[in-house]
Amino acid sequence: MPDPDAVAILADRLHHMPHPSGQAVKLAGASTAGKPTAIRDAASQYAQHISEAIVHTLESQGKRIVDAADVVSAPVAAVDPAQPLAISIVCGLCGITILPGLTIRQPSTGKALVPGPTLIASFGKLNVECPHIPAP
Ligand SMILES: [Zn+2]
Repeated sequence: MPDPDAVAILADRLHHMPHPSGQAVKLAGASTAGKPTAIRDAASQYAQHISEAIVHTLESQGKRIVDAADVVSAPVAAVDPAQPLAISIVCGLCGITILPGLTIRQPSTGKALVPGPTLIASFGKLNVECPHIPAP
């Protein structure tokens, strides 16, 4: 059974739906404005039927429509200060990644224990000026 709240919202607005582009999408067959009772009832049933199909299509493809207030973000796993931390060093001026994969041990001590020879050798190959591309 399609979510009845989602169906009701769609059925109520199917004749004039806002679109992200700013231009409303109007489904003329779903409009009840200014129409005789019999046609208005038929238009309401049509809007209900189409709305049920839309919600059912989404739900049958694994999608769920939920109230924004009911969405709870998953808690972010706490970082263990005793575990090594993998970082990349990026130039704050040009945005180039200078050193892509550096593992810092004991980051909680405030000291970055790194493989010194590897780090120094990596920096030594780089051009001091942005964008730091090594000279051929
Ligand atoms: Zn730079």
